[in-house]
Order: sequence, then structure tokens, then C-alpha cells
Amino acid sequence: MSRAATPTTRSLRVVVAALVLLCGGEAYAQTLEPISYTVSFPAPHTHYVEIEASFPTEGKTQIELMMAVWTPGSYLIREYERNVEALTAADQARVPLTVEKTRKNRWRISTNGARTVWIRYRVYAHEMSVRTNWVDDEFALINGAPTFITLVESPSRRVHRVRVMLPRTWTRSVSGMTAGPADNTYIAPDYDTLVDSPIVAGSPSVYEFSVGGKPHYLVNFRERGVWNGPQAASDLAKIAETIARFWGDVPFDRFYFLNIIGSAKNGLEHRNATVMNIPLDATSTRDGYLDWLNLASHEYFHAWSGKRLRPVELGPFDYENEVYTRALWFVEGITDYYADLFLARSGVATRDEYLDILSEQIRSLQTTPGRLEQSVEQASYDAWIKYYRSDENTPNTSISYYVKGAVIGFLLDADIRRLTAGSKSLDDVMRALFVKFSGERGFSGADVRSVVADVVGATHAREVRAWLDRALETTTELDYADATNWLGLRITPPAGAPRGYLGVVTQSDDGKTIVTGIRRGSPAASAGISLRDEITAINGDPLPEGQLAQRLARFSPGAKVTLAMTRAGAPRTVDIVLAVDPGHGWQLSPLPDATATQSQRLDIWLAQKR
Ligand SMILES: [Zn+2]
Repeated sequence: MSRAATPTTRSLRVVVAALVLLCGGEAYAQTLEPISYTVSFPAPHTHYVEIEASFPTEGKTQIELMMAVWTPGSYLIREYERNVEALTAADQARVPLTVEKTRKNRWRISTNGARTVWIRYRVYAHEMSVRTNWVDDEFALINGAPTFITLVESPSRRVHRVRVMLPRTWTRSVSGMTAGPADNTYIAPDYDTLVDSPIVAGSPSVYEFSVGGKPHYLVNFRERGVWNGPQAASDLAKIAETIARFWGDVPFDRFYFLNIIGSAKNGLEHRNATVMNIPLDATSTRDGYLDWLNLASHEYFHAWSGKRLRPVELGPFDYENEVYTRALWFVEGITDYYADLFLARSGVATRDEYLDILSEQIRSLQTTPGRLEQSVEQASYDAWIKYYRSDENTPNTSISYYVKGAVIGFLLDADIRRLTAGSKSLDDVMRALFVKFSGERGFSGADVRSVVADVVGATHAREVRAWLDRALETTTELDYADATNWLGLRITPPAGAPRGYLGVVTQSDDGKTIVTGIRRGSPAASAGISLRDEITAINGDPLPEGQLAQRLARFSPGAKVTLAMTRAGAPRTVDIVLAVDPGHGWQLSPLPDATATQSQRLDIWLAQKR
């Protein structure tokens, strides 16, 4: 929506500056010549994608090219240029031109007066993830950032065209980009769109459904006769329908769920698509299937929150340097809260299944010692060095902005409902934020706080702001009582008495039980157990590989046990008093004696009544 109405001194100055820019040098985007790429797979079994690209020189004696070093949505410098090989340049007549490397990810080419410079290079493509490239004789996943070298100058104001040459046995390519005039050709209005538009090619199983009058496609690779595509598409349609109804409008012409089956679960959001990785057995078990539905729900929700409604820092992107924001708790955590909730609201998960999923988020937060060390805004800011560089000590020093953000989403939603006597909810906050900030600029942390305060109203604005500041900026423990009371829920232990807790993470290694993680504040930490210790026996009973949890389950909290261990070949024993498992006691369930009012609130929350 259009904002500023009255011209101020500041906006006048901006207008003047813009005019100077236009007159002083670069032309309008429409007049900049496009960059064109041809993508081919001459020997796909060798895992290479070959690129030929043409760049207009606009009379310059040199042009400088760059490849992105990271992918928006995934906060780590990836050094994609390390997979680039055999880059050469030539003019229209195929006369070679000089190429000089000027940075790890930049190339400078002397044009020798050529109007157009052609470059060729190949990219090694054998990393299966949602942000990288994969090529084999069956299919290709081509992501923009690790593939397309562009001009350093004005890539965001220049059309990028792509032509995909398919191996003979492949049937089609798919991308969210606008289709070009010929089969398997695409047009991106700018480099940002190119990066945001992964291309898949091969012979996928494709399922189409319609949401809000717009076609949606589930594009499955490697179903292997195991993956239940029709069921998945049917349930996905219900979730997408519910999410689109939540926002009230579908802000794209079509949407692609690019689902690469056969690897660990992950997903990456785009403006009109998502790439998902998921194990082959995901539709074979209820838990695995809910995991996939949850992933799809999360990525689809991002088409609104994350891509269009975004923190002010996350766009336009600097593709060569880290970009910092304190708002990943919102982008990822609030999205996670809704991704879970929409499983219940769309009816693909039962109320109990949903409460189990939310309980797991709360349990995960409350059993991570790092929640007492790092606020969720700090966790967002340090994603580049903490979340995306996790090691065995990470749970002790940091908190996931996904997990704590999702729990904050739940508590904030319940709090808004309580403070407004049920007349408003976090749903209203999300829609108000979208209307106000989904344009060019994005939102700040202060904007989120202001919109929440506006939605709850003047009487409680100060209270809800104080709550938000505490939840986002400090490590103070969250309190669940108000939320559960309002919704008629309780947090109770799961069935059975609490089991003894040691506080180690172990891995089996060649028949040995090796300590690979130690939780801060746990009995193991107090007793001096060290990383890489091998636990060999408990109270004199030899410990078979992979049996630590079962053996510990025989003891109650407070029990004293003697562990036999070896450290670097030397035997030692330690006496340890087991504690109460901090993961015990975080199970949400409806209050058995909930009032009719509480039951009604629970129904309204889970049914998205407006
Ligand atoms: Zn996400």
C-alpha cells in the first residue's frame, strides 16, 4: 500500500538525489540489455552443469562479474565459487578475451571493444541440499546463487534470461520464473528473482491443485514407488487453502513445491516456490508424514511472512557479505508456530497431535541450557556464527530462534487473546503487519512491538510491550500459566515416573559408547565427565553399544550410580547422583475440568474462527 502522502524536506531531498542519479549516469532498467544463460548437462552422471552466458559490455573496456557467496534464508558464507571450473571468455567472433580473478568470487574481463562478452564455465553439482546444486543422470536441482555469475554492476536492474537444455531422457524443467517464448526458457526481471527461482529438471511426478484460483504444483522427484504422492498433494492442498484463507489473498500467480525425496528433511522458501528435502519413508509413518506436512506448511507460510513481509535488513541483499538481523525469531519462529498450528486448523493433524508438536517445541526450549545464556534476538543476530555453525557445545551457549520464536508465538497469541477478552489474536497482528510492511521497506523490531501494542489496545499496550521486550531481549524464563489458563490447557508430565538423568549425549562408535555432548548444569557436567570419554559399565554391568538410555531408565532421580569409563585409554570411575530429566513434565493437554468458556476458546484458537 502507498504510504507517505505529504512531501517532507527529507522526501524532496530523496527525489532530487534520484534525479541526479538518473541524469548523471545509468539508464532505466528497461533500457539495460539483458544477460542470457544457457544451462546444459552434457554428461549428467559426472555431476556437472555447464553454463554459457552472454553479457552486454555497453562500450566498457572491462566488465566485472561475481558469484553470490551465500543464499538468502540460509545464513552462512558458502563460498559457492569454489565449485566453478574452466571459466573462459570470448567475444562475438569467439576470439578469446583475458580473464583476471579479482576476488575469491569475482572475475574481470577485458572486453577488447566487444559489444557482448561470452563466458563459459562449469559447476560441480553434487551437494544435496535445498540451497546447493545436484546433477545426476536422473535429475538436476539448480539454485541461482551457486550457479549464475552476474555483472557486479546493476544486476538488480537487469533482465536475466535462462535456457535449459535437457538431456534426451528427461521430460521437463520446472521453475517459478516467468516462462520464456520457447520450452524450458525462463525470464527473471532481475538477479534477485533469478536467485529466488530454483530450477529443477528431469522426469518428476507432478500433482496440480488450485488454491485461491491459482494453480499449485507438487513436483516430486524419486518417489520410488514408496512415496505417496496423491495423498501428500491432497493434504497439502488443505494446508495451503487454510494458509491462503488466513492471509486473505494469494499474492502470486502460481506456486511450486519442489520436493526432492531421499535425503534429510530441510526446506528453503522462495516467493512462489519452495525446495524441500525429505526422507523416502516420510509418507510411510505418521510421524514422518506430519514432519513433511509441517515442512511444507512452514515454507508455504514464508511466501507471505519471510519473503513479502520481511525484516528491513533482509532485502535488497548484499550477496557478497553477511547480512545481519535481530528478527529471525519472527521470520522463522513465528512461521514455525503457525506451520504447526495450520496442521490442526486444516484438519490434517488431530488436536492431540498438534498439542504433542507444540509440547515438543516447549520441551526443546526448556531442556536447552543455552536459553539462559542467549536471548532470541541475539540468537537471530548471531545466526551466521552460532545456529549455522553449531557444535557439541552449542546447546549450552545458544538457543534456536526457531524453537524459542515458536514458543513466543504461542504465548503471545494466547496473551493477546486474554488481554483483548478474545476479540483479537496474533492472527490480527500478522495481517496488520502484512498490510503495513509487505512493500519495499520491510519492518523493524520496533514496528512489530508497535503493531502488537496497537492490536491489544491502549489499556494493555504497555504491559504487552514489556512482555515482548523481556521475551525477546532477555534470557528470563518464559511463563506458561496465563496462556494455559486462558486456553484451558495444562502442562503435565507424560505418563510414568520421571527417570534418572545424566545429561550426556552419546554416539556409538565401533561398539563403544562415546560421549559427544555434555549438558551444562547436569550431573555429568558436575561429575567431571569429558567429551570423548567412553562409558563402559554402569554399577559394574558392562554397557552394550547403544544401550545407555535404556540402562539409565532403570534408575530414579536421586539414585547414585557408578560409571566405569576410559579416557584416552586410561580407565577411571565416577560416582554420580542422577537428577530429574529436565525434559520431563512439558506435555500440553486439555484440562480435564476445563470450563465451557475455556473449551470454547481452545476450539476458536485451533479452528481459526475470525
Ligand atoms: Zn523457515
